[in-house]
Amino acid sequence: MRSIQPARGKFGGLVLQATALLCLIVGSVHAFAQAPVGIPRDLARLRAQQLKDIRYELSYTITPKADFIQGYEELRFVQNADDRGILPEWLDFREGSISSLTINGKPASTEIQNGHVELPARLLKLDENLVVIDFKAPVAPAGKAITRFEDKDDGSEYIYTLFVPMDADMAFPCFDQPDLKARFQLNVTAPQDWTVISNTDGHETTRENAGAAGQHRIEFSETKPISTYLFAFAVGPFKKVHDTPGLPGLYVRKSKLQKAEGEAASVQQITADGIKYLSDYFAQPFPFPKYDMVMIPGFAYGGMEHAGATFLREESILFRTAPTHSDRLNRDILLLHELTHQWFGDLVTMRWFDDLWLKEGFAQYMAYHALNSLKPNENVWKRFYQAIKPAAYAIDSTQGTTPIYQDIPNLKDAKSAYGAIVYSKAPGVIKQLAFVVGDEQFRDGLRLYLKEHAYANAEWNDLVRALERTSKKPLGPWADAWIKRRGMPQVDVIWTCDEKKLINHFSLSQRDVLGEGGIWSIGMEILMDTPHNGVWSIQTMFETQKMEFTRAIHFPCPTMVFANSKDYAYGRFLLDPVSRKAVVSQIAAVDDVFKRTLSWGSLWDSVREAELDPREYIDLALKNLPTETDESLAQSIIGRSITALHRYVSPEIRTQLAPKMEALAADQMLHSPSQDMRITWFRALRGVAETANARGQLKDMLSGKLTVPGVELRPLDRWNIVESLVAQNDPDAAAVLAAEEKRDPSGDGKKYAYMAKAARPDATTKKQYFDEYLHDTARPEDWIEISLGSFNWWNQSDLTLPYLAPALDALPQVKRERKIFFMLAWLNAFIGGQQSAAAQKQVHDFLNSADLDKDLRLKILEVVDELDRTVKIRGKYR
Ligand SMILES: [Zn+2]
Repeated sequence: MRSIQPARGKFGGLVLQATALLCLIVGSVHAFAQAPVGIPRDLARLRAQQLKDIRYELSYTITPKADFIQGYEELRFVQNADDRGILPEWLDFREGSISSLTINGKPASTEIQNGHVELPARLLKLDENLVVIDFKAPVAPAGKAITRFEDKDDGSEYIYTLFVPMDADMAFPCFDQPDLKARFQLNVTAPQDWTVISNTDGHETTRENAGAAGQHRIEFSETKPISTYLFAFAVGPFKKVHDTPGLPGLYVRKSKLQKAEGEAASVQQITADGIKYLSDYFAQPFPFPKYDMVMIPGFAYGGMEHAGATFLREESILFRTAPTHSDRLNRDILLLHELTHQWFGDLVTMRWFDDLWLKEGFAQYMAYHALNSLKPNENVWKRFYQAIKPAAYAIDSTQGTTPIYQDIPNLKDAKSAYGAIVYSKAPGVIKQLAFVVGDEQFRDGLRLYLKEHAYANAEWNDLVRALERTSKKPLGPWADAWIKRRGMPQVDVIWTCDEKKLINHFSLSQRDVLGEGGIWSIGMEILMDTPHNGVWSIQTMFETQKMEFTRAIHFPCPTMVFANSKDYAYGRFLLDPVSRKAVVSQIAAVDDVFKRTLSWGSLWDSVREAELDPREYIDLALKNLPTETDESLAQSIIGRSITALHRYVSPEIRTQLAPKMEALAADQMLHSPSQDMRITWFRALRGVAETANARGQLKDMLSGKLTVPGVELRPLDRWNIVESLVAQNDPDAAAVLAAEEKRDPSGDGKKYAYMAKAARPDATTKKQYFDEYLHDTARPEDWIEISLGSFNWWNQSDLTLPYLAPALDALPQVKRERKIFFMLAWLNAFIGGQQSAAAQKQVHDFLNSADLDKDLRLKILEVVDELDRTVKIRGKYR
């Protein structure tokens, strides 16, 4: 699965990028005599030893508008023979109810204790057991495993499941752990005009139990063995778009059918190309009987890779803002990421969520790898550096970081494992691994791993061993440092030249950014720019704290040295003062766009380390952006300049610089020869506009007096303008908002109006929204999520500071009730909305005093780092 990217496609605001211990005696019959809290890893290990051949036959009857669905389940499993005799089992089931339960034909208690149902030993047998259950499972707009979406455009209703990582047991009684793979046979009875999509193909049946009049029953063929979190179904008046033989199925809600038709062919084609490419690369055919994609509005993630039936956030596929070329490539990445999971995650699944990186890191890495082969002219590894590395380095230099392998003692804490470590650091480290072992050996290692664990589970050391076998290189120490230890190195280069203009000293040193004494084995390429002898690059391994790099001695004296050319290595690589000066003076003249991007990236790292005045960065951006032609590089420089403007420089300097950025944006928006750049500069203008003049231009765009040549603004472009005007208390804000609500009464329009109104700079609004965030269970989660940034608008920190402490107090509730990525969005919004030392003190006081789960503490430490930096940079350069 994948978080939502790009973050609302907008500039301004922050785009930043996650254990209770339970002591149990394993192996004893009485280990879990009481119903445990959550699913302890020890329970999971015990069950994995005891159980096999699990099959779920599930029949659901879906009634429109009901707050539950009716379920009937036949669960079959074999309990392994064991010298302890027949053991009792706990079946997992939360928040639903059971009306009858029989075990091997004998009635048993239907009581649910702590989210578990007991299967007593006296009713079980060795060999196959049959448990038959009638149950109800909850359905709600938010906070449950089965979500109802009401389409406000046409009144239709849609119901879909989302179980990862720990919610399958809210939809049916099961053994909810990834290493108890099972075969599922699903039947759904639903209104006649509703389509049902699941992991396998279904067909309509006319059996007498087909339900009441106006209903039909769909029976699906049995799945291959899959983990519980990969089982899924979606029900409602979905339509199949662009149904073409040879291309994967694509479904959309019926009110968006027309819009989807324009996008379907490219979505299906890149997926079909990806299936072919990955089947060859992995030497494994597509592992499931079919592949469909279902677009779900307001889906909590960018996508979720259910075996054979990926669910995608509709907004990530059908663009709500005028898209650029980069937006389309990011969509390709999302599609290829979910597709890779069909092998990495679904065919071979991690044994437990502590190895989450095994699926997420590889899906992320392989998505770029595949796109690089399918679209070789798109400079994909430069995009990887831009999209992946900043989030990884940002978290890995904070006290909130974790190793890539994360200890998860209980499934209820698995949500916290999702974040930049698995989505950004892991793919960065995998890129380094491929560089170290060699491309072919890397590919062959993956082939071996997938072949040996197909339709089963594996752990990280299984992969490392496979790569050791194919590369003949010992990788144990490498893996210990990169997988099991947290943090990262900062690599510094010191070099001098003699009077003959030849290098006479060149050394590398590394230090642990967190000061925890780590030394990493780093494969890297060092680049040297010389004035008369061109560009040199040398590849090397750097495995000690300090290294005299004698191979560079007697090279022509460089003007600039960069130790992470082509971004093979993972770590902080700042420019030395001489090189930084050279880069600053001639950055626009660097022809190679990847190199130029790396140079800009290194300068930004210097800003964040408080080594370069943020004002200097903005000045450099203002000077060089007019000639920058690479869209994604321009986007990143603009985004960072706006962050520097809104967070790092003083209000006085901002007041001087903002009009310059506004003027540049307005000019480029109108006159850039590239449509992608005009869209990028339109977003820049909206992100930076604060003077009356620039706000006037935004209003002219809403009224149609001013247009971006060749570009038609889409609904969210317009709503983002409205939001900005509302947030800045523009005198026309109320009128503009009312006009837009009238103009766009669609379901999306209502959601975006909710977002825009959260930006109102008044205390009553903030109070009302905050109460809703915590107490309104009917409000869809994605409405709340998109409004968090508006609530915490960058210039409203005085107004929102009173909510910082209550937002921190609410974390246990947020963790319990919300989907995976919500927690980080929440913290980034409430902590990221602040810039002051007073706010910083509040967060650190909270950390010192609160009795917090370890995972929550780490998340706060991760997010507060940006506030710490902001206060430090402001203090130094004010
Ligand atoms: Zn994923």
